[in-house]
Amino acid sequence: MRFGDRELTYGALACAAGAVAERISGAGRVAVWATPTLETAVGAVAALFAGVPAVPLNPRTGERELAHIIRDSAPHLVLAGPDDELPPVLAALERIDIEAAGPGGVSGPGEAPGPGVRALPAEPGPETAALIVYTSGTTGPPKGAVLPRRAIAATLDALADAWEWTGDDVLVQALPLFHVHGLILGVLGPLRRGGAVRHLGRFSAEGVGRELGTGATMLFGVPTMYHRLAEAVDGDPELAKSLAGARLLVSGSAALPVHDHERLFAATGRRVVERYGMTETLMNTSVRVDGEPCPGSVGLPLPGVELRLVEEDGTEITALDGETVGEIQVRGPNLFTGYLNRPDATAAAFDGDWFRTGDMAVRAPDGQVRIVGRKATDLIKSGGYKIGAGEIENALLEHPQVREAAVTGEPDDDLGERVVAWVVPADPARPPSGDELAGHVASQLAPHKRPRTVRFLDALPRNDMGKIMKRSLPHG
Ligand code: ATP
Ligand code: MG
Repeated sequence: MRFGDRELTYGALACAAGAVAERISGAGRVAVWATPTLETAVGAVAALFAGVPAVPLNPRTGERELAHIIRDSAPHLVLAGPDDELPPVLAALERIDIEAAGPGGVSGPGEAPGPGVRALPAEPGPETAALIVYTSGTTGPPKGAVLPRRAIAATLDALADAWEWTGDDVLVQALPLFHVHGLILGVLGPLRRGGAVRHLGRFSAEGVGRELGTGATMLFGVPTMYHRLAEAVDGDPELAKSLAGARLLVSGSAALPVHDHERLFAATGRRVVERYGMTETLMNTSVRVDGEPCPGSVGLPLPGVELRLVEEDGTEITALDGETVGEIQVRGPNLFTGYLNRPDATAAAFDGDWFRTGDMAVRAPDGQVRIVGRKATDLIKSGGYKIGAGEIENALLEHPQVREAAVTGEPDDDLGERVVAWVVPADPARPPSGDELAGHVASQLAPHKRPRTVRFLDALPRNDMGKIMKRSLPHG
């Protein structure tokens, strides 16, 4: 694995992680200061070796949220890089510095673990908690999802099947390591396959192009990264060539706007593959490499995952008509065991053994899942219609004068709820008129889906994953 310009072979990783594992063995729970570095990857692997649940912490989280997570997860130790400065809220925890180079130094590929690995405990059982990952906090305060080893193994093996992911693959990514996407898919994934990962440290279109141009085969990213690639690829034939040469471009964590999908396709001839997952469930669906990626679709349930759509009154939607909207519920070996310290929230999240995702979707006749949005923030009940925010956002993004768009519902005496568009104009000096945008949406979709109110902003509120935080919109 390589982070920036520092690299560890499998042998050196085993050595370095083994040494840390020995020191934390027997601890009840450890926190990992999850910078995008080799140290974090070594820390996470060490915790897996030792069978000690690890809580990855977002180094950019504010003190209050960090204090909440520390109180909630009650770790005994914190693992950090030797140069990391930890905030006062972590001061009470015993600190262990991760030596990424390992006591045995850098060894060659395939070598047996070095002297750092001695008496590790026997492999923990499949239900042992491996990671406690806090949700992104898009809809409320983050909740700690307890992820057993079984769920991580199941999700990675299902993705290997869908993506024909092997040890020959070299992944490039630039994701944060305190969420499922960057840490489980982006670090543990390559390790489980016996392949390689190159982490850029910081995302740049140029870095992605360089790695894909020099042997990397796959890219994992969030929609904001694909947006930046779509912007950069215009007028950059080298980047277009690198993207076109990739075996697989995968997007997840939020919906990939159709506009960016199409722009990348036009420039590279490659279609980005979308997968859909959550902290609590790991991966649920994906477009398969042997399938037909189509903009807006998150593909089929992964092997082992059962998926159903359920109406508000609890009846299951059996029609595969591409129209009837229901909540996605899933069950399978990919699911978490529950929220930490939140038996109430855990109970509320399940309908028997089915997990209620809170995401609304339709299914096409071939079974492909198309996400309409979140039940809490993206489904607008207006004038007797149920309108998904996503398709209106997609339509707005196709307007040349729109850079970013988010759609919400607001109470309306007449309609129940009214469609409100939040727009970042392409040129702040010359924003399009609200009427112009409403007319554009009405002509693309249907008149009742047009925004009744348009508000202009300099930027949309986004979290570290680039997800739009609708609950942070000024009047949202
Ligand atoms: P919180 O649960 O704290 O409010 P969150 O739901 O954003 O935050 P995550 O578990 O990181 O936290 O994100 C999972 C959610 O991300 C899913 O429920 C879904 O709404 C969204 N999502 C993930 N992948 C996709 C995708 N490909 N298309 C659309 N939405 C996606
Ligand atoms: Mg969630």
